Amino acid sequence: MKKYLIGIDLGGTKIAGAITDLEGNIIKENTLPTKAEEGEKSVLGRIIEVIQDLIISSGKTVDDIKAIGIGSPGPLDSKKGIIITTPNIPFKNFDILTPIKEKFNVPAFLDNDANVAAIGEHMLGAGRNTENMIYVTVSTGVGGGAIINGRLYRGNTCNALEVGHTTLLPDGPRCNCGNYGCLEALSSGTAIAKRAKEAVESGRDTTLSHYETITSYEVFKEAAKGDSVARHIIDTSLEYLGIGIANIITSFDPEMIVIGGGVTKAGRIIFDRIQEVVGKRCFEAMAASCKIVPAALGEKAGVMGAVALAMTESK
Ligand SMILES: [Zn+2]
Repeated sequence: MKKYLIGIDLGGTKIAGAITDLEGNIIKENTLPTKAEEGEKSVLGRIIEVIQDLIISSGKTVDDIKAIGIGSPGPLDSKKGIIITTPNIPFKNFDILTPIKEKFNVPAFLDNDANVAAIGEHMLGAGRNTENMIYVTVSTGVGGGAIINGRLYRGNTCNALEVGHTTLLPDGPRCNCGNYGCLEALSSGTAIAKRAKEAVESGRDTTLSHYETITSYEVFKEAAKGDSVARHIIDTSLEYLGIGIANIITSFDPEMIVIGGGVTKAGRIIFDRIQEVVGKRCFEAMAASCKIVPAALGEKAGVMGAVALAMTESK
């Protein structure tokens, strides 16, 4: 009987996988290095190796597997199962699903990291029992995924909810995407660290100058200790993040916003500030009915999201 699901999280440094029952309870996990520099075929071989190992080590056979879900950095075409291009993995228009379907003769599904995490939080995490939920991730970049009427909303080209690249400040800093003043260029962990480095380099009087390398973690830390330059950077970044979230609430009127990604490790300060900005900028009824909560799946968001993708697409 087909009573098991496999989720694969393809990342820039590792391929993480899990086999679960149909409720998403993990039976076995496995990880291999991506070794992206070795190219598409080699990475595909390691993905297949992870899947095979999960099946064998859990004492199952291919006939026991109902579906395989794969989360990958985008942009990608989830309908065709093609990874178009990614910054950290040398895939270009790579059909990843066909060889996996052929090898295992099991339905397989692909989606981008943020969509997969959104499905994961909706089915197995903080957003369980919601109908309309938006997931936002804030780490080195800013991304999102939308669950609308209980289903993932992909949009026409499968790239819906690229909220990190909505323009908040027309003449703002240049974004990696080429645009100026994107939410990602203002509020991501990378943006926070960049602004801190600029402050140190311009000779500002700040305790941030004690660090050799500055990430958003150090900026949050020094802001909490009272350094005024760090506080200003954090305050400005979180205000833009709050505006981005307020725009999402005003556009979608969701029951819940789930926020994940490394930057949320800074904790309450983030959620308090977002709530404050949302309170100022959204219609009262919408702001009051929308819960803004941290993601529940944490480090397992990628793998469990991929399991949830397999679960929802194979229903
Ligand atoms: Zn951008």
